[in-house]
Amino acid sequence: MLTNRPRGVNDILPGDVEKWQWIERTARDVCRRFNVSEIRTPIFEHTELFTRGVGETTDIVEKEMYSFQDRGERSLTLRPEGTASAVRAFVENKMHAQPQPTKLFYIGPMFRYERPQAGRYRQFHQFGAEVIGVNDPSVDAEIIALAMTFFTELGLKNITLEINSVGSPESREVYRNVLREHLAPVKDQLCKDCQSRYDRNPMRILDCKVDACKQLIVNPPFMLDHLTEEDTTHFAQVREYLDSFGVDYKVNPRMVRGLDYYTQTAFEFIESGSTLSGGGRYNGMVQQLGGPDLSGIGFAVGIERVLIALQNQAVQVPLETGIDVFLVALGEAAQKRSVTLLQELRTTGLVADKDYLGKSMKAQMKAADRLKARQVVLLGDDELAAGIANVKNMETGEQVSVPLSELVEKLQQKL
Ligand code: AMP
Repeated sequence: MLTNRPRGVNDILPGDVEKWQWIERTARDVCRRFNVSEIRTPIFEHTELFTRGVGETTDIVEKEMYSFQDRGERSLTLRPEGTASAVRAFVENKMHAQPQPTKLFYIGPMFRYERPQAGRYRQFHQFGAEVIGVNDPSVDAEIIALAMTFFTELGLKNITLEINSVGSPESREVYRNVLREHLAPVKDQLCKDCQSRYDRNPMRILDCKVDACKQLIVNPPFMLDHLTEEDTTHFAQVREYLDSFGVDYKVNPRMVRGLDYYTQTAFEFIESGSTLSGGGRYNGMVQQLGGPDLSGIGFAVGIERVLIALQNQAVQVPLETGIDVFLVALGEAAQKRSVTLLQELRTTGLVADKDYLGKSMKAQMKAADRLKARQVVLLGDDELAAGIANVKNMETGEQVSVPLSELVEKLQQKL
């Protein structure tokens, strides 16, 4: 048991971790161009942040949080998502006192007690971005375009963008009653959770994963048909901007995002039936978490899902492979000298390695091949005594003799 990892969490090993680094680099690079700054928030927060921020009637809060009491008997929770933390940090650090908008991104692990399966884990990773403080529809389009640019730069194709408007609280008030009326005849046949959602938050019922509920909910009324004029205009303008960017999308009036905080624009990016990313506007949250009445919009991308999509689409990940120099030393004195030489090479910026086990020349050359060394330095006791080393170019096979005093410089020139 001690040597097994818990269910639903993964090790990311060398060989794979380079792909993660590339994805994270791409995310940082795209955010830089959109002038979005990184924020790093704690892995755990007060439980109340999520019950209030994410919403009491969400699956996350009802069933999926990793909550625990610390030794001071505070209830803490491993963060299940990044938006509530980002908004908490925005309010707590009085970022609203700065000129708006505030544009933030984060990359890091999230925790949800879900049933593990392919693409669904208990510790997973998200890259997310948030724009707080501007309610203009062009910002909705911009944040969607940021996510789309990220996918495009990773080389992913055939990503479907679905958008919807889930309305402002005023629109929702009206719609909730329309929905309750529609569902009233089947209310008693819905699952226990949905029966409780019926009173508390009937929109959640449309998102229920229970088959019996899915079958009972036929032709529900759509939020889109009950929007206030302001919400309708906002949604139309978001679509216009997306059109002007040349970003393709599908309006999906059935989309209900799994988090309570969304208002107006909601969207998802889907690849081969798997949701890579979800997001939307959350205009009430800043105020709900104790800040001024400022709007917000953001998305979160699941990095594990992105990796699966890259694999499905056989995208060649541009990885740096190989090392600049491998040192092959034979004989006691040469071995000793190679230790200091290795340190010199590394401090001048070369990627270098050597054998540590006193292996034969043949075995050391094999190691150089395995590490895809571009150059090999061959140093024996005789060469050392003569003040030279042999340098072999592994691509051409060409070998030259170089004075030790010029070795580092010569190796650098070859690159
Ligand atoms: P959400 O925060 O629920 O809107 O999720 C945003 C994205 O995070 C989803 O589209 C998935 O790509 C990813 N995601 C959410 N939950 C999980 C999970 N349990 N395991 C892996 N990825 C997840």
